Amino acid sequence: MPVTTDSPAIPPISVLADQERELAEGVYDFAVESIGPHSGRMDRENVMDPDLIRKFFDLDLMGIEIPEEFGGLGANFTTSIAIIEALARVDAACAVVVDVQNTLVNNAIKRWASPAIHRKYFPQLAKQKVAAYALSEAGSGSDAFALATTATQQGDRWILNGEKLWITNGLEAELFLVFANVDKSKGYKGITAFFVESQWKGFTKGKKEDKLGIRASSTLALAFEDLEVPAENVVGNVGEGYKIAIETLNEGRIGIGAQMIGIGRAALDYVTKYVKERRQFAQPLAQFQAVQHELARMDMELECARLAVYNAARLKEAGLPFAREGAIAKLKGSEAAEMCTSKGLELLGGYGYVKDYPLEKMYRDAKIGKIYEGTSFMQLNTIAKDVLKRV
Ligand SMILES: Cc1cc2nc3c(=O)[nH]c(=O)nc-3n(C[C@H](O)[C@H](O)[C@H](O)COP(=O)(O)OP(=O)(O)OC[C@H]3O[C@@H](n4cnc5c(N)ncnc54)[C@H](O)[C@@H]3O)c2cc1C
Repeated sequence: MPVTTDSPAIPPISVLADQERELAEGVYDFAVESIGPHSGRMDRENVMDPDLIRKFFDLDLMGIEIPEEFGGLGANFTTSIAIIEALARVDAACAVVVDVQNTLVNNAIKRWASPAIHRKYFPQLAKQKVAAYALSEAGSGSDAFALATTATQQGDRWILNGEKLWITNGLEAELFLVFANVDKSKGYKGITAFFVESQWKGFTKGKKEDKLGIRASSTLALAFEDLEVPAENVVGNVGEGYKIAIETLNEGRIGIGAQMIGIGRAALDYVTKYVKERRQFAQPLAQFQAVQHELARMDMELECARLAVYNAARLKEAGLPFAREGAIAKLKGSEAAEMCTSKGLELLGGYGYVKDYPLEKMYRDAKIGKIYEGTSFMQLNTIAKDVLKRV
């Protein structure tokens, strides 16, 4: 259960406008009330409560940046980011469901897909159907463009064959942004994005992963066997998929940074309350300066990470380059979350190590931040490339 504190749900940093803050605070209140009571059970049972997904749609959380004319909220990217942070403070798995739908799929469709796809799918994405982003495969993770899934043109259709792995939202999703190569001789320049409905013949959902953390978020393998995709469901131009993948992940990483600072903040809030109550040596733990310094370090790491996350979000909104800043946001966010949950767990002593207290789950949930949407080494590669270009 999240801790109720006197501090505001969303700290008053200058980059959040009143409307963005109000929306995120409203989502936080909703999450405390409606997600909090189910979070532990969903983690234990490795399952997402379908009623929660319905509520995400009802509250427009699945179409935050989809224009209002298509049933979305019509808000900006920073609002998506603040909402992901707010959700992750209560449940990191719910945050990633919303994150993938908004920052990876909806944004790719908004920017790259045809007006016909907008008209057909935006109302579904905003109000009804969960979506997923299918890039990774068993043999291609960090080296994503080595993907083996193929697409062959036959008249007005493309025929997809191959397998995907690790697909977040895979169980609940009915719509998938799938990357396949139309001409392997062209290398990454053959990669093309397709918008695929899971009910189409040749689409099979496979094994669901049994994970360390974010257990309520489904992670699935997929298989495509002669899956027919109409030509109008190509997203962007043929051969442009690598660009769509890179640029979408650059945005998505800011979302993961937000998820991580949400987890870290939840850990700091819980631990702060705990050390004020827990007594050893005839005084509250919070009286020991060593303990206070641990809290201060956690707070400082989170502040740095938050500034990095919201700075990257604002750069993206302003149409300025943000690949480096997005990588920093994710890397710093995931390091802050790991640090806060690890130190937080230690400050609870034995109670931190058991499932009756929330730090154990937060610690597990934080770990994914260093892996998905590009591992920490991949973020460092992006940052280093920018550094080397500069001088
Ligand atoms: C829970 C979960 C959800 C996911 N959701 C999705 C999703 O929705 N859609 C999707 O497409 N994918 C998804 N992924 C896949 C994820 O993005 C990949 O797992 C990730 O990119 C790493 O790829 P890999 O697992 O193949 O590891 P590898 O690429 O094999 O990497 C293994 C290790 O080698 C290191 N390494 C690799 N190359 C280099 C290098 N050049 N220099 C230095 N070190 C290197 C890595 O940093 C890592 O430490 C998900 C994964 C998980 C675990």
